[in-house]
Parts: sequence; C-alpha cells; structure tokens
Amino acid sequence: MFTIGCHLSSSGGFLAMGERALQVGANTFQFFTRNPRGSRAKPIDPSDAEALAALMKENRFGTILAHAPYTINPCSKTGRTREFARETMADDLARMEYLPGNLYNFHPGSHTGQGTGAGIEEIADTLNQILREDQHTTVLLETMAGKGTEIGSRFEELAAIIDRVQLKDHVGVCLDTCHVSDAGYDIIHHLDDVLDEFDGVIGLDRLKALHLNDSKNPPGSHKDRHEKIGKGAIGLDAFRRIINHEKLKDLPCFLETPNELSGYAEEIRLLRSMREEN
Ligand code: FE
Ligand code: FE
Ligand code: ZN
Repeated sequence: MFTIGCHLSSSGGFLAMGERALQVGANTFQFFTRNPRGSRAKPIDPSDAEALAALMKENRFGTILAHAPYTINPCSKTGRTREFARETMADDLARMEYLPGNLYNFHPGSHTGQGTGAGIEEIADTLNQILREDQHTTVLLETMAGKGTEIGSRFEELAAIIDRVQLKDHVGVCLDTCHVSDAGYDIIHHLDDVLDEFDGVIGLDRLKALHLNDSKNPPGSHKDRHEKIGKGAIGLDAFRRIINHEKLKDLPCFLETPNELSGYAEEIRLLRSMREEN
C-alpha cells in the first residue's frame, strides 16, 4: 500500500487532523506534538484520540508520525536545555500512548561546540532516560542536512547513537530526502548506492519513514531549505525512483514541502500518479 500524507497543523485536535488528511487525499499525516517553541502541550482528550483511531481504521491509514518541536536540543552544551529536551520528549511519549503503534520523530540536535562525540553520547543518554520497555511508539532519529553543528547528517553518527541505546527495539530512523541530499548523499543519481550505504552503516530494518521534500539547494550544500516536489534540485525523476524503490515502497511518506492544504492535495495526487503499484 502507498502510504502518503503531509504535515498538518494540529489545531482542532486529533480528529480534525484525520479529517484534513482525508481532504487532501492522504492516508497518513504528520503533526507537531506542541508548538515549535516547545511550550506546554494541551492535555490529551482520550475521546478525541479514539475518534482519530476509528477514522484511521475505517480509512485504512498507515502509521502516523508525531514530530517533536524542532527547537529542542538534547545535545546542547547547556545542561538546562538538554534537560528541557528530555522532559519534553518524555512527556510527548507519554501522550503518544493514547495513540499506540505510531511513530515519534525528533532532530538529534546540535552539539553547539562540544564536538560530535560528546553530542552523540548526550543524545543516546537522553533516549536511555526516556525510552520505556512497555511503550507502544517507535522513536525516530531524523537524518539531517548538517547545517551548523547539527548531528545526524552522516549515517555513521546515527548508527553511533543507536549503538548506545539500550532499548533498540523502540528506535528507528526517518530519512528526509532534502536533508540527505543537502548532506551530500547522491539520491538523485545513485539511490541504490545510498541505500546500500544506509544498510551497511545503520541497517535498512531501522528505516521506518520518509520525509519527501525537494531541496532549494544543490547536493552537499548543508542548507536545509525545503522545496515543492519536482521544483528543486532533487527533481521529479528522482522522486519517481524513490517512491517506487523496492526497499522504500512500503514506508510511510510525509510531505514537508512549502504548501497550503491545496498544494499538498496536488502533490499527493502527483505522487500517487507516479506510483507503479498502489
Ligand atoms: Fe524534521
Ligand atoms: Fe524532515
Ligand atoms: Zn528540514
């Protein structure tokens, strides 16, 4: 099944998001667990979560993806900032238990001058403190573009984090096409090689989701500016290969392109038309 959706505003709650997803022709969606500033999240309404679960079942949705606020930083050189990231993520995971069986994605963080090694240790420490044996959410590390002191633009860095995590069954990776291209992996001309490299370094069994974004910048630019599908450096042909690739075609795909709802509906239609099997 082609599982395709887009990032949606979380206003109106869970059921409202599910309805918006249907409106744009999606069978999954991504949302922020709280506003990007990472402030206090609204309490969960269990009946709203149940209503979404029913809508998802009825419309055969794939897994949905909750995205942590991108402003949290589990490997900041400032202790209070790391602590805030840990508290936010732990609270998000507790809330995700109202929607069991889904995914929670976060940016590994920026080491802010401490060095990659120290950053990797701190990200793994954070995960070791928040993961619970009995949780029902898989936590995903996102592949990053490598701007500033960002960790996670090399597959080796993600592998080193996962290596240090005790409850590995609860951890995976979300591959962002804009970010990996900006990081210098040539998914435009050598997708097979990049996936082989991912498999050798991290293991493709850890790959649980795709962020489909074109990039405003050429490969290796380390910029992280998303573009509409087919309008950037990656281009339509590469996306056709990505969504139909034997090793990727069963993963849930999430658009984070600069679009309003109507633009997302159009991109979802376009990608569906490019799929070789549904
Ligand atoms: Fe992200
Ligand atoms: Fe992303
Ligand atoms: Zn991005």
